[in-house]
Amino acid sequence: MRTSEYDRLDKPVNQGSLWPLLTSRAMLHLLSPGGGRARLSILIYHRVLPCQDPLFPEESHAQSFDQQMEQLAACFKVISFEEAIRGLRNETLPPRAACITFDDGYADNAEIALPILKKHSIPATFFVAAGFLDGGRMFNDTVIELIRRAPGSTVDLDSLGLGRFSVGTIPERRQAIHQLLGRLKYLPSESRQSTVEAMSALIPVMLPDNLMMTSEQVRVMHNAGMEIGGHTASHPILARMENSAACADIATGKEMLENIVRAPVRFFAYPNGKPGRDYLPDHVRMIKKLGFEAAVSTAHGAARKDSDLHQLPRFTPWDQRPMRFALLMARNMLKTGEAV
Ligand SMILES: [Zn+2]
Repeated sequence: MRTSEYDRLDKPVNQGSLWPLLTSRAMLHLLSPGGGRARLSILIYHRVLPCQDPLFPEESHAQSFDQQMEQLAACFKVISFEEAIRGLRNETLPPRAACITFDDGYADNAEIALPILKKHSIPATFFVAAGFLDGGRMFNDTVIELIRRAPGSTVDLDSLGLGRFSVGTIPERRQAIHQLLGRLKYLPSESRQSTVEAMSALIPVMLPDNLMMTSEQVRVMHNAGMEIGGHTASHPILARMENSAACADIATGKEMLENIVRAPVRFFAYPNGKPGRDYLPDHVRMIKKLGFEAAVSTAHGAARKDSDLHQLPRFTPWDQRPMRFALLMARNMLKTGEAV
């Protein structure tokens, strides 16, 4: 398809926001004119909550996500990940190409994000950590929900060597979560799991078991035309484990998803995703060997024709103001994204 044909497919914008959007589009067009000089912006999301969470007000929710999708569709040509990879390979990307990805497999992706994506006719890719489907909970969510729901104004985790935390106010709870996640994130999986279980035993609250998608929701997404991608089974930090265990976890996740959607799982997202810290060159080789056609990291930047298809950068600006959103996207386009 030629550039001009893509331009004709641009979404109309409403009159009130016409000028900033036309300016934004022109600026983005200069930076990413399509074809061999195209820059592909890949957006990364995790959760889309039903409404704003007082503990994490910056997290996307139905209203903010709806606005972002409207802005995105007005400024960018949002294409599927498959089309984006083909365009990068063949140097046939449209001007201002973007795609949207979600990591981890939260149930709100199916319940809240999917109807909004459908409303804007936007395709997306969902990288699902398959081991948590059907009632599982990732360690970070266990920590968040324990601290969110902890009764009283202090949480005493001294017996676990984690210290005491004031949780009398929302900022204190937020701070406690931030500190605990920082301490636990890079522990070996087993000791992280046992520490989180010990925390659950100390803090007397009921934890939710419906945070992640069910297998049926994954099937519904796939049947709605969304791409389902691999994100391992247990969401380990690959760089912190033996290669044989890392390879098995990646392969198990892929197989589990393929059994659910009855189709090949072709794309992959590295858990946590920082090149050189969370994954290493060995893991890039592994995912190629396992048959993944492309993969994404969490390095910032936009992809170009010479980017490594198995380490594509991602970025998401959180600003709701249209011009600021476009400027942040433009600035990100100037970065290529580091790789290992
Ligand atoms: Zn993840």
